[in-house]
Amino acid sequence: MKVCRTAEELAALDSLHGDRPLVFVPTMGALHEGHLSLVRLGCQWGPVVVSIFVNPTQFGEGEDFDAYPRDLSADLALLESLAVAAVFTPDVSEVYGGANEVTIQPGHRGLGLCGHNRPGHFAGVLTVVAKLFGMVRPDVAIFGRKDAQQCLVIAQMVADLKMPVTLVDGPTIREEDGLALSSRNRYLDAGARARALCLYRALNAGRDLLAAGERGTEAIVEVMLGELAAADLVEYAEVRQVPGLDLADEVRGRTLLAVAAQVGPARLIDNLVLNVSDHEVAEGVLLDEPGSIASRFRRP
Ligand code: AMP
Repeated sequence: MKVCRTAEELAALDSLHGDRPLVFVPTMGALHEGHLSLVRLGCQWGPVVVSIFVNPTQFGEGEDFDAYPRDLSADLALLESLAVAAVFTPDVSEVYGGANEVTIQPGHRGLGLCGHNRPGHFAGVLTVVAKLFGMVRPDVAIFGRKDAQQCLVIAQMVADLKMPVTLVDGPTIREEDGLALSSRNRYLDAGARARALCLYRALNAGRDLLAAGERGTEAIVEVMLGELAAADLVEYAEVRQVPGLDLADEVRGRTLLAVAAQVGPARLIDNLVLNVSDHEVAEGVLLDEPGSIASRFRRP
């Protein structure tokens, strides 16, 4: 496993993937099973490059950029065990060393949900993802469904700017009791950890009500808010259409149930992607199935 600190060192690995797609999994480190599941998904298609970079521009003022957990040696040990081809751990100056006059702003998908409460967050995410795509030059990039709005905002950037990369969303990995894995779960003490489960409970309550036949957005939001009463501060509980993230009074088709709340010192988010028809509620995916990636990238 190569550990590269500069884009130049990474470029020297160009011969690494031969006729297979180069797969990229961007992360901010403090790796857990959620990140590793994305790496495993990617390994089936080709050599995987994982980036570990805590991106300053996606944190707002007063957010946890300084406190964000960093443990490079533990991360490298985990990635070594998965036969990752290369890890890219650039300094801030490697990524932001230039003039940085150009940034990428999200379209309307970035306005609500986390975009509403974290102004500038998705511009920071898109700008760093575009920079990382430019440095890693992947054929395939994998993102977690856990950050659903992020996936959809990035998908719009890739489509609108004609970026030559195929996006894949990996399923949300959870603890046994349902809590979505997150690097920020490290902030939770035992009491907060127990209360943090209210996010998953809220989503399940919303899904159960849909399964019972309710299709009114207001009723679904209300039942989710009821469960979120255990949080210290509720940021949002929303029902949005996928992929556009538009609001609708009636729930139908591909749908995102999304919640965000402060529990103890941690700001936590979670979601469920559902396919809602007249008589059925089934689990859904965010991004369209990419088809057979392996055969698409096999060159003659
Ligand atoms: P982060 O390090 O938090 O920026 O996350 C890096 C990638 O891992 C993003 O694409 C996240 O959506 C994804 N991710 C984070 N938590 C999970 C999880 N519990 N299950 C699946 N993917 C996740």
